[in-house]
Amino acid sequence: MVKGKMFVISGPSGVGKSTIVSEVLRKKEDIFLSVSATTRAKRNGEEEGINYYYKTEAEFLKMLEEGEFLEWAQFCNNYYGTPKTPVQKMLDEGKDVILEIEIQGAMEVKKNFPESIFIFVVPPTLDELVSRIRKRGTETEEVIALRMETAKKEIQYAQEYDYILTNHSVDDTANNILCIVAAERFRMERCIDELEVLK
Ligand code: 5GP
Repeated sequence: MVKGKMFVISGPSGVGKSTIVSEVLRKKEDIFLSVSATTRAKRNGEEEGINYYYKTEAEFLKMLEEGEFLEWAQFCNNYYGTPKTPVQKMLDEGKDVILEIEIQGAMEVKKNFPESIFIFVVPPTLDELVSRIRKRGTETEEVIALRMETAKKEIQYAQEYDYILTNHSVDDTANNILCIVAAERFRMERCIDELEVLK
């Protein structure tokens, strides 16, 4: 059976990745999201097992020690990691999986799973980014400053990705991601078995 593919989506904090990914999942039923583990506090409106698996630092470090992560990173004083088993299972079942992760983790995936597809989402301007984070109302000014500083560094990594999408509108960006997914599904390696009936 042809295995699924990982679609890694990164971009600076506040660019709207989670909203875009929700829209992709809403529009397309046959693409799946990897739910990460994190030590960051739950934001209002977030749910355990839907947005993240919320862990204490001790719990996270235990998972790390036991090799449970496909990749992990420290980001703005918190740990984030992709649980390996559910992703492997989905890929083995031929399902395409989205990983919405930051750059260090994405680079780890690139090293270990180079056949994955890497998509970088950028804001139209940095002013727009800061105003989006402020509008979310969930971060202190100190955290916002740290996230903006991190964002500027992150944007330097865009050239490591296969695709760059400027997020002018959630709907357009979600549709553009779906175009990339559709194109990848027509790749020769994924379709070659279909030629058997033509022989
Ligand atoms: P937030 O705290 O805003 O939900 O996420 C902060 C950053 O961590 C975002 O860039 C998000 O994409 C990233 N992130 C979320 N889950 C993971 C993960 O499992 N691994 C890595 N490396 N980054 C993650």
